[in-house]
Amino acid sequence: DAKGRGRAGFRFYSAELTAQAKQRGMLETALRRAESAGELVVFYQPKIDLASTRLVGAEALLRWQHPSLGLVQPDKFIGIAEDTGLIVGIGAWVLKQACRTARRWNENSSQALKIAVNLSSRQFRDNDLVALVSDYLQATGCSPAWLEFEITESLLLEDNEAIGIALKAFRAMGISIAIDDFGTGYSSLAYLKRFPINVLKIDRSFINDVMLDRDSTELVKGIITMAHSLRLELVAEGIENAVQEQFLQDFGCHFGQGYRYGKPMPQASFEAHPLMLACRQKNAGRAPQSQQP
Ligand code: C2E
Ligand code: MG
Ligand code: MG
Ligand code: MG
Repeated sequence: DAKGRGRAGFRFYSAELTAQAKQRGMLETALRRAESAGELVVFYQPKIDLASTRLVGAEALLRWQHPSLGLVQPDKFIGIAEDTGLIVGIGAWVLKQACRTARRWNENSSQALKIAVNLSSRQFRDNDLVALVSDYLQATGCSPAWLEFEITESLLLEDNEAIGIALKAFRAMGISIAIDDFGTGYSSLAYLKRFPINVLKIDRSFINDVMLDRDSTELVKGIITMAHSLRLELVAEGIENAVQEQFLQDFGCHFGQGYRYGKPMPQASFEAHPLMLACRQKNAGRAPQSQQP
């Protein structure tokens, strides 16, 4: 009967919840020692100039090399890291790696490659992020011009004065600030006036549907027009094919990222990637390449 089914359904549901909670607890425990155990790895995904399809930089994307689970993707553990506050330490670690890599890629190079780093709301709350960033820049010899921070619209909706102050300080230092997953938040666009944003990253879902669905086509055109008139840099995320690329080129989107150019990959693979080699070659005539470990 209905009641019986309901109870069985509840039992099943609650058993599933318990299993989920256990799994989460297990991941949390493992995540607590992941950094010190050397299990965290930063992957890099190429970002290109759409007009020339040349490399202009990369996004740093975290991976967790778990001893038994294998390579764990961020959607499995970033949420846990944010809820527990572990993201503060982990995010700082990612930032330092990105600074080191930016220094390595840019020293003796005339053509700057910028590395974009994702920042969570917790990182703005739990420590003096601006001081931390200055320290890392100094310690690694990374120029602020080689860094971009990606934040989400929801961060700007938080009623937190410290966020605006930190963003202003970063821009004053010369670090770019990008809105990630642009178009998926619920925000009014007023934050573009209130905060020192200089880059928009159009969410992958719009790019995915750009040739399939008229609304997405018009939305993307509208975002491109708005970015041009507000003098914002524009990056399209999730470009997978030539049709999407052509559309974005035709309408004057500046930069692109997606599997069409390269998936997120380990640093060594990135440095051996044809896009990087082409960039190095262009440089070689102008300045000597350093041989660094
Ligand atoms: P995100 O910042 O929006 O990063 C873009 C995501 O889209 C990445 O997923 C990337 O692998 C994926 N992607 C890029 N191009 C394509 C494409 O052409 N097709 C498809 N299907 N996907 C594409 P990933 O690496 O799994 O990262 C997921 C999210 O995890 C990121 O989304 C970001 O919000 C978060 N994340 C990753 N690393 C960090 C980190 O160091 N700190 C923080 N706070 N969040 C991070
Ligand atoms: Mg991002
Ligand atoms: Mg995104
Ligand atoms: Mg995201």
